[in-house]
Amino acid sequence: MAADTPGRDPVETQETLSNLLQETRKFAPPAELAESANVTAAAYEEAAADRLAFWERAAERLTWDRRWDTTLEWNPPFAKWFVGGKLNVAYNCVDRHVEAGNGDKVAYYWEGEPEGDSRTLTYADLKREVSKAANALQELGVAKGDRVAIYMPMIPELPIALLACARIGAIHSVVFGGFSASALSGRILDADAKVVITADGGFRRGAPSALKPTVDEALKECPDVTSVLVVRRTGQEIDFNDRDVWWHDLVDRQSEEHEPVPHDAEDPLYILYTSGTTGRPKGILHTTGGYLTQTAWTHHAVFDLKPETDIYWCTADIGWVTGHSYIVYGPLANGATSVIYEGTPDTPHKGRFWEVVQKYKVTILYTAPTAIRTFMKWGDDIPAKFDMSSLRVLGSVGEPINPEAYVWYREHIGGSRCPVVDTWWQTETGAIMISPLPGVTAGKPGAAMRPLPGITADVVDDQAQSVPNGGGGFLVVRDPWPAMLRTIWGDDQRYIDTYWSRFDGMYFPGDGSKRDEDGDLWLLGRVDDVMLVSGHNISTTEVESALVSHPKVAEAAVVGATDPVTGQAIVAFTILRGSAEESADIAAELRNHVAKTLGPIAKPRQILVVPELPKTRSGKIMRRLLRDVAENRSLGDVTTLTDDSVMNLIATKLPSAKSED
Ligand code: ATP
Ligand code: MG
Repeated sequence: MAADTPGRDPVETQETLSNLLQETRKFAPPAELAESANVTAAAYEEAAADRLAFWERAAERLTWDRRWDTTLEWNPPFAKWFVGGKLNVAYNCVDRHVEAGNGDKVAYYWEGEPEGDSRTLTYADLKREVSKAANALQELGVAKGDRVAIYMPMIPELPIALLACARIGAIHSVVFGGFSASALSGRILDADAKVVITADGGFRRGAPSALKPTVDEALKECPDVTSVLVVRRTGQEIDFNDRDVWWHDLVDRQSEEHEPVPHDAEDPLYILYTSGTTGRPKGILHTTGGYLTQTAWTHHAVFDLKPETDIYWCTADIGWVTGHSYIVYGPLANGATSVIYEGTPDTPHKGRFWEVVQKYKVTILYTAPTAIRTFMKWGDDIPAKFDMSSLRVLGSVGEPINPEAYVWYREHIGGSRCPVVDTWWQTETGAIMISPLPGVTAGKPGAAMRPLPGITADVVDDQAQSVPNGGGGFLVVRDPWPAMLRTIWGDDQRYIDTYWSRFDGMYFPGDGSKRDEDGDLWLLGRVDDVMLVSGHNISTTEVESALVSHPKVAEAAVVGATDPVTGQAIVAFTILRGSAEESADIAAELRNHVAKTLGPIAKPRQILVVPELPKTRSGKIMRRLLRDVAENRSLGDVTTLTDDSVMNLIATKLPSAKSED
């Protein structure tokens, strides 16, 4: 923002964040869904009348061994929820459904990447496997409070490993299977993990890719790890040493009984390191009672989950928070039937996701804008070949969804009948915070709409004043919420500095937002990415959305590059849709399109057509690197990139990108 941009005086800018994009489309909830929705508009009023009583009722959906004494203890910025309460998270996610007579109900339909490779786990199966794994961890000497690092492909043993830790009160730290040895060792050391759970490898893009060698490499730096538990998935050749033990040797011989002991509501459940798009990874700490309350309630409310009939599929990797909260904890606490898919969307063909939807008759699909834009690029004809009439609710998470991508998702995946819920939240928030409710909200493409009942989010200016309708600024959360991070592992000061110091008494997630004339919220990306053009703070999201609204564009990333005249000038990197030809005048056409859509102030100085964009391993655009390219600097840290050859491809495009005008 202005204050952080060297050489610019913040008072020069009138508004905190410009509001340029006008979007008038609106989709009412389907009548049938609204009639039998799990949550109605009354929830907003109930929560507004008594926020803590609202969260108490949400907590009562769980099974507690001991009821809490105090709902919230708030010593800013440190929160304790359901103080004195005791529960076992794994019991809530697994055993209680078996005890209720639902042991034969499917918890997970697992689909491997190689075709025909699938497994079905009922709740009774899950109880048996989690109990055995919990016994195995105890045999390895893992006790309550110990840290267990998990570095695995998307196989059933992954959620089983998480639940086994939760059952015994060990703290899991999942590291996404695409991370390097040094990223893994850094996280193992920071959390001081004692045991690592991994696999020989996993299937990615049609071939086995190894994981165990990366663990071996990482552990050269980690002398305190005593055991490595290894699942055999691919059967590839790997080194085995004294510390290593096969999952099938250790876990399979364990007893199928394991008594779940109650844990304190504020006992840690897990550490999850943020992906590191920005700086040194932070170990986000989540605890049990509040976290499970909010993940379960939001999963029930935002997806309108009917556990008896729905087949729910979240396409995220369990290595990210979305997988923790909405593949493992939320859905299982609600007794849902979920699909887990091991592989990538284009293996063995680009219709794989839709084939999975058709095969399992998926009713609720939760995916990311990066995937949706990729499907747009591949073409409408691919999903059209599959029967997806089972779908009834669609969700989006991870980045702002461009209005055009939202509309494409709604039409081509949702058959124009399914509401789309754009869910804003973060690793730090633990659960969904801002989202439409599918049976209540008339959704606007690109808007996350309203804070959920019980959440007090707001948009403020530089001076921490709420902006009026029609204004833009910084997103903040005013009151503590049950699933909030409790601290950064081992670093309370960094927790205070990062999240609670920008605005007095408010949580600052680092994102910009605007509030439209109806009071609905539109998330505008990270404030670090905001561009200052001729004294106007312009969000990258709005310019990218304007570009994506052009029929030839599938995906766009824009950055502000230093400019002698305007302070910063907008440089846009675009990927064309499958059907579009790259013509000589495409740049002029797109520049004019943006000027027409948002006004001349947002007209990009340069447009580059590129084959790929640099993305983090979780699929988010890394604008920082594009800024380096646009300013002809050598590239900064590229270690979180999925594929660093992308940057070479982009650099070769640069000379042809002479400024127009
Ligand atoms: P890091 O914090 O390590 O840089 P990250 O912020 O990408 O990584 P996550 O916690 O997975 O890691 O992502 C949360 C961020 O993703 C949010 O702060 C926001 O910027 C963005 N985001 C998530 N969902 C939405 C959404 N629905 N609309 C807009 N932005 C979203
Ligand atoms: Mg973040």
